[in-house]
Amino acid sequence: MASVKKFITADKTIRASVVLCTDVVKEIVARQQSLPIASIALGRVTAASILLAAQLKQKQRIGLNFKGDGPLNGLFSEATFEGRVRSWCGQPQVQPAENQPKDCVGAVMGSGILTVLQSQDHNKHEPHSGIVEFVSGEISDDIALYLRQSHQIPSVVSLGTRIDADGQVLTSGGILIEVMPGCSEQSLIKLEETALKVSSFSELAAEGKNEYEMAECYLPDKELVSVTHNEMIEFRCPCSKSRVLNAIKLLGPKSLEEMLADGKDIETRCEFCSELWKVSLTELAKIKAELDIEKIH
Ligand SMILES: [Zn+2]
Repeated sequence: MASVKKFITADKTIRASVVLCTDVVKEIVARQQSLPIASIALGRVTAASILLAAQLKQKQRIGLNFKGDGPLNGLFSEATFEGRVRSWCGQPQVQPAENQPKDCVGAVMGSGILTVLQSQDHNKHEPHSGIVEFVSGEISDDIALYLRQSHQIPSVVSLGTRIDADGQVLTSGGILIEVMPGCSEQSLIKLEETALKVSSFSELAAEGKNEYEMAECYLPDKELVSVTHNEMIEFRCPCSKSRVLNAIKLLGPKSLEEMLADGKDIETRCEFCSELWKVSLTELAKIKAELDIEKIH
């Protein structure tokens, strides 16, 4: 299993995080049954949420919600510090228009807003959130703008998912370089100039570069020190039968009465992991009885 590899410059002014998360993106793409352009979008947003979550503290998680007016119909990814991730897109079967490049995510994303939700697990407080308008809808630029606006962190973000002729994911991952307080103006300018010349993430991955070598491409004249981060990345969806039953209960007695009157079992599919949850008439009647008792009390 993969993990985020983290590095910091010896003078502690720039930190870099790199992830090669091909296997988890393959699983997400399979669960979403996406065509290539949506797979590229899912791969990029998944790498972005994993990289941002790796900067948090234990038990915290981050959600990236891209709400665009394009035919992709929205894109979402959620990751925890511990490396659990799930992603979703509104229209996985979308295809680029004839006159558009096959990897132009911005064209199917459209214009819109990115909402970033950062929260503590089981925390009743409102999660911290940041909102930015899309720069391009290509995800990397949008994440960089969010970091600059919400956290005052200048950064370089490069995300890439490579797809073969059959629509299969070959490589997927990303790099996030963040400039810390105390970084000289000169180092920042050098980083920005270098970033413009470095090959795309997918090209670096295709060349077989490892995470350290990728970070080195952006910071060639800096000494890089590894930072321990052992959390393994895995696809994980927290949906469960009890969550489904709870959601039905929240619909209230009137909706439950209608479902019972329909006389059919309920089927609902999780839009993240595509697990099909079935709720029988007996179970519906049991929830209804629970609600009736709660009403009396
Ligand atoms: Zn699920």
